[in-house]
Amino acid sequence: MRTVMGYLLPYRVRVACGVALKFLAAVLELELPLLLAYIIDVCVPSGDRGAIARAGLAMMALAFGGAFCNITGNRMAAWVSMEVTRRLRRDLYQKTESLSCAQLDGFSVSSLVSRLTNDTYHVHQMFDKVQRGGIRAPMLVLGGLILTFWISPPLALVQLAVCALTFFTIFAVTRRGIPRYTAAQTAVDDVVRILRENAAGVRVVKAMACQDRERERFAAANEAARRAEEDAGCVMAAANPLTGFFLNTGLVLVILVGAFRVNDGVMDAGQIVGFLSYFALIQNATLGIAKVFVMVSKGAASAHRIEAVLTAPEDQRPQEGGPAAPWELGMENASFSYLGVEKDLDGASFTLRKGETLGILGPTGSGKTTLVSLLLRLYDADGGIVWVGGRDVKSRERRELGGRFGVVFQHEALLNDSVYENISFLRGLSREAVIAAAKTAQAWEFIQTLPRGLDTQVDIRGANLSGGQRQRLLIARALAAKPGILVLDSADSALDYRTAAELRRALRRDFPGVTLVIISERVASLQDADRILVLEEGRITHQGPHETLLRDCPRYRDIARLQMGGARL
Ligand code: ADP
Ligand code: MG
Repeated sequence: MRTVMGYLLPYRVRVACGVALKFLAAVLELELPLLLAYIIDVCVPSGDRGAIARAGLAMMALAFGGAFCNITGNRMAAWVSMEVTRRLRRDLYQKTESLSCAQLDGFSVSSLVSRLTNDTYHVHQMFDKVQRGGIRAPMLVLGGLILTFWISPPLALVQLAVCALTFFTIFAVTRRGIPRYTAAQTAVDDVVRILRENAAGVRVVKAMACQDRERERFAAANEAARRAEEDAGCVMAAANPLTGFFLNTGLVLVILVGAFRVNDGVMDAGQIVGFLSYFALIQNATLGIAKVFVMVSKGAASAHRIEAVLTAPEDQRPQEGGPAAPWELGMENASFSYLGVEKDLDGASFTLRKGETLGILGPTGSGKTTLVSLLLRLYDADGGIVWVGGRDVKSRERRELGGRFGVVFQHEALLNDSVYENISFLRGLSREAVIAAAKTAQAWEFIQTLPRGLDTQVDIRGANLSGGQRQRLLIARALAAKPGILVLDSADSALDYRTAAELRRALRRDFPGVTLVIISERVASLQDADRILVLEEGRITHQGPHETLLRDCPRYRDIARLQMGGARL
């Protein structure tokens, strides 16, 4: 809670003013029933119209004053809590961006999304409710009780009992209800997720005639959502009727006890009217306190989840690295494990000079992407050294490292924006640069045939493009900033052989000095590389140029023979 509460600090004057206004409003409102009793018991029997008018005007003034203070106080509270939430969300977002990939894996992306949306909302509600009711409601209850005790202790005891009963009932009901609402929300999220999956995969679903199964899956999620909502609704259904019941029972009791006391001559009728006003006031305030309690318990849980992210240590600070080396890219006995169970990369060693090409071949899950991730310092190697640009990557800023690379990853998404923006990628590149990159990436030809050329809108999953077109846009994006090192992770998987060959030629022509890392399952894409790594279960089993591997690596030879029909062997 401490970090999140700290966000209130800059606004402490405003918070204090707002709370003071709410306090003042409560004081003013507490006067009203007293004046009412005074009018009925003193002014009316005496028949002094002037006194009645004066007391009436005073009541009006108090009511206006109370309303004004309440409105202003509420506005200030709303402003502060919105401003605090905005800053909290901004910091949380920035922090999320600076998390390392290992930390992202730890939190999970969907949890981070809900922390940024749901949890900040709960914290907002907490700040808002506490400022509005945190002082005012207890103040009304306390002040009201003191005044009612002053009017009539026996009636005040009735009041106190009903008040306590209300508080505990509402507190218990809402506390049980809110987790159920959260569960219901999650169930609805599931429904939405299935809907989206289905919409995204609608062609596959139709093509493979899985509609029935999809319908069942949806029906199950829908039913779960209904049950969760019903559960929550059933619990919460008691809340409002119960408060009404307590209020009415209390009123009846007050009138009953009061009537006896008026009969006995120890109390005036006006005092009972005044008392009834206090009763409603205190009852409402009690409900307010119960709600504040619930909001605080929810808000505190959310604040903890937010703080876990905000206070996550920066785990990739540049540090003293290993010795410098003449390699543009390289590893020495580098090992890495995502979960700490088995090694996903095991003792990798290779070197590559500036301007050379590295090819990586291996079955899925063999660690190809992992190897590249270590070069980009998305993850830090558990052991060994990783070099980029002659220096240990541990001594480099991730941001600075990122500036050297142009990368196409396997499952990369496009932006829901124009073709131009997808290639420029928020870097504000000139249209000439974008066109040049598109030409090298073999994308310019098809971009020209699109309805609005570079300004055509791209669907977020690229549904209005073919797989190969999408891939070429991503390659153009990687090329557009003229990187020193280009990494293509299976970027040719959807390209036909001819286009892939033209892409390789264009790359060599337009980016003569670039250091290239190509992950591919096609020997044709790799055979000109200066060094090819063959990966298997996280280990580099063989490495060398095409000819060497053909001779020494049976696996490579088999793949090459399969793919090239023995033509060049
Ligand atoms: P490739 O790119 O060769 O297909 P990867 O490098 O992506 O293989 O994966 C290597 C191994 O690491 C696989 O067993 C995979 O399951 C595992 N792995 C990849 N990414 C993660 C991750 N973020 N968390 C846990 N395990 C992972
Ligand atoms: Mg991969």
